[in-house]
Amino acid sequence: MNQPLEDVRTRLAHAAAIAGRKVEELTLIAISKTHAAEAIVPLIEAGQRTFGENRVQEAQAKWPALRAQYPGIELHLVGQLQSNKADEAVALFDCIHSLDRPSLVTALARAMDKAARRVPCFVQVNIGAEEQKGGCAIADLPALLAAARGADLPVIGLMCVPPAGIEPAPFFALLDKLAADHGLAGRSMGMSDDFETAIMLGATHVRVGSALFGVRG
Ligand SMILES: *Cc1c(COP(=O)(O)O)cnc(C)c1O
Repeated sequence: MNQPLEDVRTRLAHAAAIAGRKVEELTLIAISKTHAAEAIVPLIEAGQRTFGENRVQEAQAKWPALRAQYPGIELHLVGQLQSNKADEAVALFDCIHSLDRPSLVTALARAMDKAARRVPCFVQVNIGAEEQKGGCAIADLPALLAAARGADLPVIGLMCVPPAGIEPAPFFALLDKLAADHGLAGRSMGMSDDFETAIMLGATHVRVGSALFGVRG
């Protein structure tokens, strides 16, 4: 048993019950960035299998050994991806949450063709129209989705990180609406402080770091 994991699962189940949603339809991604294998192993041993990292290099250093030891690990990339790391990302990750520009569509399509492996992607939306923030502008979303379809990239949903310090609910609701408008089933939204709200507003994938691992140093 792992107390932080139990607590997060309880919170997740409670939010799902209120929203009339099934827990099995929700994916809890444990965001293990900055945390060493010693901190990750207790969660794996408690049954968690889906993890997320935000840097390709860090994930490459940590996960091959853990995967050799524990079968069935699913690894998600939740951080910005440089086009020149597309090959490595396609080899390492089972899902990419940060597709946000046409050049990355091209790079990922080429990498997936080369590897003969289709990795499901979320398109990251800059939901608060913030400067300096990753994600595609809402106005650019239709063209980016069309480009991804044209390149045969498997886009399964939309992802967002709402602006810090203000109520996230309107941004979650907006992402949910955009996903519905485009006929996409996946909504990657909600972190340690707000994943219940995200679940009530349609999240299918929640990305939880500090509530599972403690605050990052
Ligand atoms: C770090 C990170 C998270 C997890 O944040 P917590 O507040 O620690 O739960 C979720 N999503 C992304 C994109 C992140 O970079």
